[in-house]
Amino acid sequence: MNSRETQGNRIALLGGTFDPVHLGHIALAEAACQQLQVDKVWFIPTQLRYYKKGQAAEVYDRVAMLSLALAPFSNMEISDVELRKRPEDNYTVNTLRTLTKEYPDTRFVFVIGGDSLEHLSTWRAPEEFLQLATFAAAVREDVDAKRARALIRKYEKDYPGADLVLLKMDPVDVSSTEIRERAKTGASMEGLVPEAVERYIRKNRLYM
Ligand code: ATP
Repeated sequence: MNSRETQGNRIALLGGTFDPVHLGHIALAEAACQQLQVDKVWFIPTQLRYYKKGQAAEVYDRVAMLSLALAPFSNMEISDVELRKRPEDNYTVNTLRTLTKEYPDTRFVFVIGGDSLEHLSTWRAPEEFLQLATFAAAVREDVDAKRARALIRKYEKDYPGADLVLLKMDPVDVSSTEIRERAKTGASMEGLVPEAVERYIRKNRLYM
């Protein structure tokens, strides 16, 4: 878990269910490190509102797999900010309120998928959360960047003080849904999740 020795830094935040973490998430974090001038990336596992045994992993399994996946990277850590709260309280604005209070000298860069950029203004309290962090939208350079730039201009006009940037990244063709299906059928996960994560899934018979 993240420590408090981070005051004055710039930190990227990557929220997700990470059920399980896969190499697409790691590639996204690496792109954030390379392009966003951040010292660290914090992975923020969210609580699951609906939990069905066998279909989703328990929180401690999701965190254990994240720990295994992030172990090789000294600049990637897990934040428990959303695990400390009730699932109903895990709105981005609440998460950023908590983090900016706890780390007043840190500038956070909240990473979102390019698709989320489309409906950012429908999230709770955009006028507030857009002041609390920079938002970085992960987009494919070729197809999505033009549309994303237009949206960024619109948000910066509608919400004075908002700061949004692009994070260019070629998508990695993997999702947690696919990994869960592979776990169920026994298909290989090679090249899709870190080896230690695949071993953990098999050993603990997750998603069966
Ligand atoms: P699921 O299949 O269960 O919906 P997921 O693979 O999309 O899960 P999440 O934990 O929901 O994983 O994703 C967390 C963040 O990582 C989101 O911002 C999402 O846009 C991003 N992300 C997910 N998959 C990839 C990928 N293959 N490449 C780059 N970014 C990804």
